[in-house]
Amino acid sequence: MRAQPAASHFINGKPCEDAAGAVLESRYPATGEVIASLRAATPETVNAAVAAARSGFKVWAATPPVERGRVLRRAADILRERNRALSELETLDTGKPLQETLVADAASGADCLEYYGGLTATLTGEHIDLGGSFAYTRREPLGVVGAIGAWNYPMQIACWKAAPALACGNAVVFKPSEVTPLSALKLAEIFKEAGLPDGVFNVVQGFGETGAHLVSHPDVAKVSLTGSVPTGKRVAATAAETLKHATLELGGKSPLIVFDDADVDNAVSAAINANFYSSGQICSNGTRVFVQKGIKDAFLTRLAERTANARLGDPMDESIDTGPLVSQSQLDKVMAYVDKGVAEGARLVCGGKRASVDGLPDGLFVEPTVFADVVDHMTIAREEIFGPVMCVLDFETEDEAVARANATEFGLAAGVFTRDLQRGHRVIAALHAGTCWINTYNLTPVEMPFGGYKMSGIGRENGHAAIAHYSQIKSVYVEMGDVESAY
Ligand code: NDP
Repeated sequence: MRAQPAASHFINGKPCEDAAGAVLESRYPATGEVIASLRAATPETVNAAVAAARSGFKVWAATPPVERGRVLRRAADILRERNRALSELETLDTGKPLQETLVADAASGADCLEYYGGLTATLTGEHIDLGGSFAYTRREPLGVVGAIGAWNYPMQIACWKAAPALACGNAVVFKPSEVTPLSALKLAEIFKEAGLPDGVFNVVQGFGETGAHLVSHPDVAKVSLTGSVPTGKRVAATAAETLKHATLELGGKSPLIVFDDADVDNAVSAAINANFYSSGQICSNGTRVFVQKGIKDAFLTRLAERTANARLGDPMDESIDTGPLVSQSQLDKVMAYVDKGVAEGARLVCGGKRASVDGLPDGLFVEPTVFADVVDHMTIAREEIFGPVMCVLDFETEDEAVARANATEFGLAAGVFTRDLQRGHRVIAALHAGTCWINTYNLTPVEMPFGGYKMSGIGRENGHAAIAHYSQIKSVYVEMGDVESAY
């Protein structure tokens, strides 16, 4: 097998196996070839990882912040040195084109580690003057963080959770998606090489029940999930039983609003990025593209012309920009939505079929698909598809666009294209979404907080904002005078 790791799990600074766990296979989505065979963690292995993390936490929380930061920055350097090998592994595991993984996965993970590495020694409490006496606050870690990832950006998600958690002095047990188990193990090795003490970052593989066991574990102080809304609800309910802190990064059905005065080619570029990058398997995608009537024909014409240029093929070939979907079940789900779009009366502008690629008969490819004349009540306009399917909806007025864009249970992201500066800011302020763009889409630099409103999540990743979700404040009142009492 092309990418078989030393062992399935990484606990207390070393790879380890759990022969009693169910088999879990990773496949290359372009061929169906099994690239690695691992085993899920039984509850005993999860318990061992949490116990290791508890011990690691004591050491790490007592490590001077400047040294903690140095370890994170060293890990960032190693990720960058090994970017090509890590990107190839990510492409094999996810099917995303190497063209993308070379710039968007380990590279963004490295940015995140570097950013929080720089921030670590600057994290402080505050001094509060009480007129004579005073108070101060200490920013303290939470303890063991149980982190659970989705399959679309496995390395990036692991870093987005680990970096702020470790910066604050916590220890982590990370469970990747069962579909993409491999890169988190590499990250664990890299942390060790960078000088992270044993037990501070652990990886356990498994299916949903492994994640559930981690979430319910009494020694886990906080959970951080990237996943779907149904899983988010289950994780929040389980976390509530032991009153754990929870960060939830969930799904979306985000609006991208294109006004008549927008630059058509830039808006089309953004719509392509917002729907077809990573074959559409991105939570923040702008999948409801509202186009004002005056620009609709020009927009659709350019969109169809440019989408015809998409190069589908073996994602390991760097000239390929469109890879397969991650799994057969994801492909089936996406194709069912395409069928539903047609059945409910949306107009297929391009795509709409499973794509066949020469030499890759078992590849899970779907043509980049654009539906026009989509109306709000259609299933494809309401539910997250998580595939390369764009819905284009028409609108006439700004108020109408805002009201319709907000008429969803989700609130992860939103975008606006206009040359009118005031309108851009006014519309963004009116949209119910946590992560927004004006005249671009889906750029998520680590400096900018990322997260959702409404059913799209709780808490924020990235930026200074994430620190609040991986630490707690202790307030200390210091009396400088005598203590008065009633008697
Ligand atoms: P899932 O919700 O199916 O799974 C997410 C993770 O949770 C997986 O590791 C899964 O394990 C685990 N899990 C499943 N059930 C439980 C449980 N009861 N308790 C604890 N953990 C559990 O999502 P997908 O992996 O299918 O990812 C796609 C979804 O993720 C989309 O909805 C997408 O929008 C969302 N997403 C959100 C992002 C964001 O930042 N907002 C970013 C990327 C994706 P296993 O896979 O082994 O079943």
